[in-house]
Amino acid sequence: MSPPRKLHIKSYGCQMNVYDAQRMVDALTPEGFVETANVDDADLVILNTCHIREKASEKVYSELGRLRVARDEAASHGRRMQIAVAGCVAQAEGEEIIRRAPVVDVVVGPQSYHNLPQLLARADRDGRALETEFPIDDKFGVLPQPAPDAIRARGISAFVTAQEGCDKFCTFCVVPYTRGAEMSRPVAAIVEDVKRLAENGVREITLIGQNVNAYHGDGPDGRAWSLGRLVRRLAEIPGIVRLRYSTSHPNDVDEDLLAAHRDLPALMPFVHLPVQSGSDRILAAMNRKHTADDYRRVIDRFRSASAVIAFSSDFIVGFPGETERDFSATLALVAQIGYAGAYSFKYSPRPGTPAADMPEMVPAAVMDERLERLQQLIDQQQSAFNKAAIGRTVEVLFERAGRKPGQIVGRTAYLQPAHVMAPDSIIGQVLPVRVDSLERYSLLGELASATSRPADAMAATGA
Ligand code: SF4
Repeated sequence: MSPPRKLHIKSYGCQMNVYDAQRMVDALTPEGFVETANVDDADLVILNTCHIREKASEKVYSELGRLRVARDEAASHGRRMQIAVAGCVAQAEGEEIIRRAPVVDVVVGPQSYHNLPQLLARADRDGRALETEFPIDDKFGVLPQPAPDAIRARGISAFVTAQEGCDKFCTFCVVPYTRGAEMSRPVAAIVEDVKRLAENGVREITLIGQNVNAYHGDGPDGRAWSLGRLVRRLAEIPGIVRLRYSTSHPNDVDEDLLAAHRDLPALMPFVHLPVQSGSDRILAAMNRKHTADDYRRVIDRFRSASAVIAFSSDFIVGFPGETERDFSATLALVAQIGYAGAYSFKYSPRPGTPAADMPEMVPAAVMDERLERLQQLIDQQQSAFNKAAIGRTVEVLFERAGRKPGQIVGRTAYLQPAHVMAPDSIIGQVLPVRVDSLERYSLLGELASATSRPADAMAATGA
């Protein structure tokens, strides 16, 4: 038997990329690859790139320069190192990478990771291999499966792709260009993945997709199923106690999804619903296709479906042409909604997007100052939300041992980390925790007895 080949993946960017790295490992494990944390040791190095920032491709080329040195060093010891570029830069600039970087053996777009073994073989045969076409068949439905050992090693919480790509074309975003049109995996494929994960100890599933609530996968009845219907089916799978989904667009929130929040205890009452701005003028320039009031109405519909629901969001500060008045509208929206947390960023142009050519760039100092004001408000809301848990009993799904001896760490329904002193045997269980105090963003407490009153409902702050 030949010795295992070593694989090193360096991932940049979003959660989707972290998950995609697992998909690549899953595709390559049957070929005899094992992961290594040491790039110099690797027989195959994959740069899993992100196109979200300016100069993303320049960073890839400078990383490839460093890898060329590592590859030459390996060659001097008689060892071959193959180099692949994956992710959104590979998708957007594959031909250019092949032309400019002879050190690269394989360029592979996100929809083709299942073909990695064949691409490596093709690179062996032909010298190089490039695959960045968006698939036109249903290959997307069938993803490489992790081995049972790999599932167990990754813990009790897992991501499952439900959908990829986006048809919304927000003017600041590269996703429609790098990940292609919206595609949904068939219900049966997702159910099979989740069953397999549950059989190997996974208790919590997060369905992911760039626009996951636009999900419209083929159902077993031959019809397109909505995300709400899919979630309902997954909640029936033995062993699955928590379901989440991310990321959603306000325009794609439908009655099925709201009903699922109303009816399913397993569907966590914590929704990431990006709005980006509170100004209708800026929302129109962003091509978000909704107004701030439309967004408020969607939030109200969620709150009518579940009184304990809480929200997080994404904000872009300093989009081209944003005035102080526009920014004040964003602050007003945040103050009104009351978030449990949110991500906020300064606008930075992404090459190839319509917004990158918009005039009226907001000066950097103004962006800095606005971002600080917005983050202060969000921090206050997050901190109030977390403080509201003190003195309450909340349900925690325990995930792993903590840093201190005897400490076990889990998460609440709202993804707040919670720490208790308890035996390891509670890992994988949802148990009530009496929260005593807060340490930064983590809740500290102790296991409440099984007979204590059920987990408190915590409404979002500002509701
Ligand atoms: S909906 Fe999200 S993924 Fe789609 S274009 Fe807009 S920001 Fe990008």
